[in-house]
Amino acid sequence: MSNTVLIIEDTESIRKDVSEIIKNLPNIKRILEAGNGIDGFRMLLENQVDLILCDLVMPGMDGFKFLSLKESRSDLSDIPVIILTSQTETKDKIKGLEHGASDYVTKPFDEGELTARVRVQLKIKNLQDELRASNARLAEISVTDPLTHVFNRRYLFEILEKEFDRALRYKSSLSFVMVDIDFFKRVNDRFGHQVGDQVLVDVANLVREELRKPDVLGRYGGEEFGVILPETDLKGAWVVAERYRTRVAEYRFGTAHSPIRTTISLGVAAVPDSKVRTVDELVKEADDSLYQAKNLGRNRTQLSSGSESPAVSVP
Ligand code: GH3
Ligand code: MG
Ligand code: MG
Ligand code: MG
Repeated sequence: MSNTVLIIEDTESIRKDVSEIIKNLPNIKRILEAGNGIDGFRMLLENQVDLILCDLVMPGMDGFKFLSLKESRSDLSDIPVIILTSQTETKDKIKGLEHGASDYVTKPFDEGELTARVRVQLKIKNLQDELRASNARLAEISVTDPLTHVFNRRYLFEILEKEFDRALRYKSSLSFVMVDIDFFKRVNDRFGHQVGDQVLVDVANLVREELRKPDVLGRYGGEEFGVILPETDLKGAWVVAERYRTRVAEYRFGTAHSPIRTTISLGVAAVPDSKVRTVDELVKEADDSLYQAKNLGRNRTQLSSGSESPAVSVP
């Protein structure tokens, strides 16, 4: 861990002393110095700081004002502050801690004490950072399909439910596209499961590359994907689905030596639709359309028939 420490202290000799004492700590990479609260706050905004040592009595913006300002910013409030107080300022120590400081040291400094307190605060800060990073990783893992890295089924449905409610409330349109790889079993049988897996990843990536900003792609099941298209009626979804279909049909999977062709079939449903009152009914409509696409010969897009969107001429 290499940390940056910001020292805010108006008395230059004290600032230099503090800097000298802590600069050789093994986990400190950089020390920033400011002579008042305003400069300190500016440095805090401009740099990634891990620990602040802050004097209380300074002209202009004093330590308390600095602490209040820092605490008001959610992006800065987790950075620990050790206040630098004089022995007589007992009330100030309490006030500083109440304003969000994590600890204090008393001037004149005992070198051992100052270094020990800096070490402790940096250790806590680094552990918190690690915890935050691993929580973010866990949150990402919990919504991601491990093979294709698109969203998993649970998250796809979570989003679909939200978008469905929104579409009903605002009477806007929403489409759902079910994508299924044609004769995928043959790919596995002929080339093996590993190649099959790679084809799955490639199909997911091809569709992902075609997504517009609000669209959401998830793995629905084995070799099936679902795409949520907000603010898109059946006619619009047709155009989008056909783009996915063409993209896959034209792509050479496998290797340059042994290219593999594969195709997808797509079933599309949309609201508003008099037959669709729930998310499950929307998914069923898309699923039924997909089934028809398969029956009609595969490598094609089939639209749900009940939608109130304008008629689409299917070539
Ligand atoms: P259709 O055109 O009717 O969709 O035929 P299909 O062969 O694609 O459909 P079917 O449902 O009979 O077979 C799907 C296959 O997908 C069977 C299963 O082994 C394979 N599959 C499902 N998940 C995975 C996976 O994660 N990796 C690999 N390699 N294959 C998978
Ligand atoms: Mg001072
Ligand atoms: Mg299938
Ligand atoms: Mg299939």
